[in-house]
Amino acid sequence: MNVYAASGEEIEPVMISALEHYSYCPRQCALIHLEQTFDENIYTLKGHIAHERVDQAIVRNEDDIRVERGLPLWSRQLGLTGKADVVEFHNNVPYPVEYKLGKQRKWQYEAIQVCAQALCLEEMTGYAVPSGAIYYCSSRTRREIDFDMQLREKVVEVAEAVRALLTSMTLPPGVNDQRCEKCSLIESCMQKKVHNANERDIEYALCDQRAGVPAP
Ligand code: SF4
Repeated sequence: MNVYAASGEEIEPVMISALEHYSYCPRQCALIHLEQTFDENIYTLKGHIAHERVDQAIVRNEDDIRVERGLPLWSRQLGLTGKADVVEFHNNVPYPVEYKLGKQRKWQYEAIQVCAQALCLEEMTGYAVPSGAIYYCSSRTRREIDFDMQLREKVVEVAEAVRALLTSMTLPPGVNDQRCEKCSLIESCMQKKVHNANERDIEYALCDQRAGVPAP
């Protein structure tokens, strides 16, 4: 898919999943989408299993609703690309359903991801997509998400922030709060911090040496 900036220059599309990663933690987004860091832990492995069924591209009818799994998504307007776990078509109106591990919760970054899918579906099909859902595998419950104006604006804002981050090619500082405990990249993230700190220490030591400051 070709995506063009306002200047007419061709730009790389952003993965929809990057919006969720960015709104969780910009550093996590950069580690995954700039540095291709993927660490497996028990949660990511369970996540792969949960997505195994929905990742295959399948079309079938369930109770008069057409269901497509693994549907490729794109938006030229927003410069987004990705894949939907499930899209239900209710009288041709798309209804995206994103599968998540764990019990039902109210995290906004998951809502941002499914709303971004909806904006892609609107552009692809020409139908308005007013709502969708997140399916939580452990509690086997659906959380319905209304794609109101506030959420739509948030998607646009985060998509622009992700593009700026990926263009800058810089690793942002960590959030250093309770999000880190649940983050699958905690080990790689901390290693890089230590590594960067060590590099800084060496640079300071070299500068001090050049300036004639005696070594401590
Ligand atoms: S460990 Fe914390 S700071 Fe590092 S990527 Fe994960 S959430 Fe962000």
